[in-house]
Amino acid sequence: MNNISSLSINQHRFLILLIILSLFIGPGLFTASAATGSGSPRVFLNGNKLDFEVSPIIENSRTMVPLRSIFEAMGADVYWDDTSRVVTASKGAITVILPVDSSTAIVNGNPYYLDVPSKIVNNRTLAPLRFVGEAFGGRVSWNDTTKTIHIDNASVDKPAEVKVNVNRVNIRNGPSTLTAIIDCAGAGEIFEVLAEQDGWFQVSRGGRTGWLAAWLVAAGSEEDTPEPEPQPQERIVVLDAGHGGLDPGACGKILKEKDVNLEITRRVGELLKQQGITAVFTRTDDIFLSLEERSKIANRLNAGLFVSIHNNASELSSVSGIETYFYAPASNPDLFAQRGERAKLANAIQTELVSALLSNNRGVKEKNLSVLRNTLMPSALVEVAFISNPTEEALLQDQDFIDRAASGIANGIIVFMND
Ligand SMILES: [Zn+2]
Repeated sequence: MNNISSLSINQHRFLILLIILSLFIGPGLFTASAATGSGSPRVFLNGNKLDFEVSPIIENSRTMVPLRSIFEAMGADVYWDDTSRVVTASKGAITVILPVDSSTAIVNGNPYYLDVPSKIVNNRTLAPLRFVGEAFGGRVSWNDTTKTIHIDNASVDKPAEVKVNVNRVNIRNGPSTLTAIIDCAGAGEIFEVLAEQDGWFQVSRGGRTGWLAAWLVAAGSEEDTPEPEPQPQERIVVLDAGHGGLDPGACGKILKEKDVNLEITRRVGELLKQQGITAVFTRTDDIFLSLEERSKIANRLNAGLFVSIHNNASELSSVSGIETYFYAPASNPDLFAQRGERAKLANAIQTELVSALLSNNRGVKEKNLSVLRNTLMPSALVEVAFISNPTEEALLQDQDFIDRAASGIANGIIVFMND
C-alpha cells in the first residue's frame, strides 16, 4: 500500500511538473514566433520594410496591423488615452479617432466602419490593414503569395493644374479615402492645384475646397485616352437571395425576409431563363451561406453580373419604398474601373422596379457591402420593400406583387445587358 501510494504521489508530481512546463512553453513558443514574425505578413511603406514589436496577425481572414508604428512612420502624431482607451491620430488635414474594441472610427468628424474592431495585443493596438493604410492617404496592396503588404503614400510633384481622367471622381474633405465625400467631379474637369499631401491634391469646386486622389487625375491638361472598359463576356447572371437558414434577415409581423427574398429571386431566375439568360442561384433553399461564399460563387463562375435581392426594415413602420446599392470606390482600382457599369446596373434595376411596383423611389445609393465589395463583376443589391411597413408587408404576401417585383428586377438586368 505504502509503495503504491508513494509511486502515485511521484506520478502526480511529474504530471504537475508537466502541466507547469507546458504552461510556460506553450505561450512562450507562440510569443516567439509572433515576435520574429516568421508566418506573419511583412509590411512595406513606400518600399521600405517596417519592423514591429508586435507583428501583424491574420484574424478571420483580415490582416490586423500595429496602428501606432504605421501611423508614426507615415508622419502622424499618435496619442493614446488610457482612461477612455481611445487612439487619436492626426496629420495635416486629417484627424482619426479610434476607440479600441470598436468597429467605428471617426475620420474628420465622420463615422468610418471597420471590417473588424481594433484590439490590444501585447499592449499594442492592432487595427484592420485597409483602415490603417488608407487613413492618411495611403494606397494598400496585398500580395497573397509572398505575404507582403505594400502601403504607398509617397508625395507627388504638385502641378499647377490637373485634369480628371476617369468618369467620376470624388472630392473629399481630407486627403484620404476614409474621409467624407463632399462633391464629385466629372471626366475632363480641370482644377488649379492649391496644395499636395500624401498623393492627394487640394482643389476648389463650387466655392468649397476639397481633396482629389492624384492617381485619378492627370497633371496638366494634355489629352489622354483612357483604356476601353472590358465588356462582360458571359451571359451568366448570379442571383443571390439574401440571408437564409439561421439568418432570417429582417422580420415583419408575419414574414421573414429570407423567405420573401428567395421567392422573388426564384421568380427573377425564371424570367431571365425565358429570355435565354443563364441564371445561377447562390441558394435555392432555406440554407445559411456566408457573405463571402455568395461572392465566391459568382467569381468562380466568372459570371457577367451579380444581383443580390433583399427586403428592407426600419424602426419607423412608416418608412417605405425601393432602394438599390452599388459599390465602386476610388480606393479600390478594380471596382473603380467598373464604376460606370456598376452604377448603371443599379440604376437600371431601380428604375425598372419603381415602374413595376410604383412604390416610393428611395434612389440608388453607394455602400460598402460585402457582396458588392467582393464580386469581381458588376454587382448590385436591391431592397424591394420594407418588411417593417405593414402595408408593404401585406403586399409582399401578394403573388401579383411578388411577380411584378421579379419582373421589375429582371427587366432592369435585361436593360443593362442589352445596353
Ligand atoms: Zn437583407
